[in-house]
Amino acid sequence: MPDDLIFRISGDAFVLLPAKVYDVMNSFTLGTQGETEAGGILIGSYRGSHVQIRQCTVPLRRDLRKRYLFDRKDRGHQLAATLAWTRSLGTETFVGEWHTHPEDFPTPSMIDRGTWSEIVKRRESHVVFLIMGRKGLWAGCGRRGDVKSISLVPGESP
Ligand SMILES: [Zn+2]
Repeated sequence: MPDDLIFRISGDAFVLLPAKVYDVMNSFTLGTQGETEAGGILIGSYRGSHVQIRQCTVPLRRDLRKRYLFDRKDRGHQLAATLAWTRSLGTETFVGEWHTHPEDFPTPSMIDRGTWSEIVKRRESHVVFLIMGRKGLWAGCGRRGDVKSISLVPGESP
């Protein structure tokens, strides 16, 4: 069982990604699943300056999945976020999104950058963006129109 992953946003602000959520996303980079892009949203909570990811949605029926494209068209993703919000009495919400790339060490495409700047344009809270590759992942975080890459903190859990 791998450890939970921790990324540093800046100073003492972190993104916490549980191993079990990582494993779900990573399963879509393997075998025949890895032949078309997959994705979903990240649901979690804001704890002070930290983002605690708690779950993710996975590709749904109406999503568009191609070799180099994932378009989150199914309304089930938003529905899952709304449901989490209600069930948690307003602490869990949409905190970001993820998708896979058919490459070993992924980097964001121009389309990714464009989509993300739209998402963070009017946001004051951090939004997390993850791209899962076959051997590594790319992580970014943004708000107020600006998305930057964030790096993994090596070592132990918090
Ligand atoms: Zn992409």
